[in-house]
Amino acid sequence: MAPGVERSFTAASTLEEALAARRQGAAVLAGGTWMMRDPRRGGQLPVAVVALHRIPALSKVEINADHVVIGAAVTHAVLVRVLHGVAGFEGLVAAAQGAANPGIRSVATVGGNLCALDFAAADLAPAFLVCEATVELQTFEGPKLLGISDFLEGRHRLLTEAIVTRIHLRRDLIASAHIRLPLRKAGDYPVAIVSLAVDKDKRCRIAVGSVEPVARRWTALEQAMAAGPASALDPERAAELALEHNDFQGRDGKEAEGWYRRQVLSPLVRRGVAALLKTEGLA
Ligand SMILES: Cc1cc2nc3c(=O)[nH]c(=O)nc-3n(C[C@H](O)[C@H](O)[C@H](O)COP(=O)(O)OP(=O)(O)OC[C@H]3O[C@@H](n4cnc5c(N)ncnc54)[C@H](O)[C@@H]3O)c2cc1C
Repeated sequence: MAPGVERSFTAASTLEEALAARRQGAAVLAGGTWMMRDPRRGGQLPVAVVALHRIPALSKVEINADHVVIGAAVTHAVLVRVLHGVAGFEGLVAAAQGAANPGIRSVATVGGNLCALDFAAADLAPAFLVCEATVELQTFEGPKLLGISDFLEGRHRLLTEAIVTRIHLRRDLIASAHIRLPLRKAGDYPVAIVSLAVDKDKRCRIAVGSVEPVARRWTALEQAMAAGPASALDPERAAELALEHNDFQGRDGKEAEGWYRRQVLSPLVRRGVAALLKTEGLA
């Protein structure tokens, strides 16, 4: 930063205040666990930031009979505590519980995980993809709702002038699971992530994170599994189909090369289906 430039920090109490700070060029500060490492990645810390933790609506999780609403400033640790034991959200709980370490999880937020640009290994992204989550944003023009896939694809553009406020989930899942492959030597980021869910019509949804730059649904595998008999929810059969329908372009990174990330998907699917079969909803 140039000498003489003053940094500014605003802790907004309302969304309007946060948006006003954004209009003045402030970046959103959530848990700060990603942002504080910007200099290590060759970037710079923002000169002005606006924190969201004092806005009550953004730190709440509402559990209703048919839907759940998660505030963007809810931490991983709170998400685990609040959703633990809620049928259908086993995968989301495992994603929040498996990410990083206890210290990071106690401050890192749901919004921060989804808004950390160019972070391919975000655990919550594939977990929300199989929930078919809707992302609520507050933009300078007003509120906006977007499907999670569209949000993840468009977030570079969207986040130049928006704040993610809430994540909406339908309670239409009977079971879900989240399987990640971390490499201990390479730190905490998973090399590949597979999230799976089964909806009330017994359809299986599958999403993959960390293999390509942006997490996405594995539609080719979902369709292959739906075309088979109900017994397709067999770990070995699912792993075979995963091999046959692997349409991922693995990304090369410092933790692993692309071919390896692709290669591990089939065994992760096997483990994921086995985990699904152990949930209360499918037992
Ligand atoms: C050692 C370590 C290990 C980790 N391991 C894992 C792991 O295994 N799995 C995993 O998923 N993650 C992992 N992470 C990443 C961690 O989960 C992220 O750092 C975290 O989710 C970011 O959340 P935050 O609240 O700290 O965001 P911040 O650092 O505050 O923000 C991140 C980015 O998102 C923007 N932003 C934040 N909230 C909003 C919002 N509501 N609206 C608009 N923009 C917003 C910020 O402006 C910033 O650009 C790890 C991090 C560390 C440091």
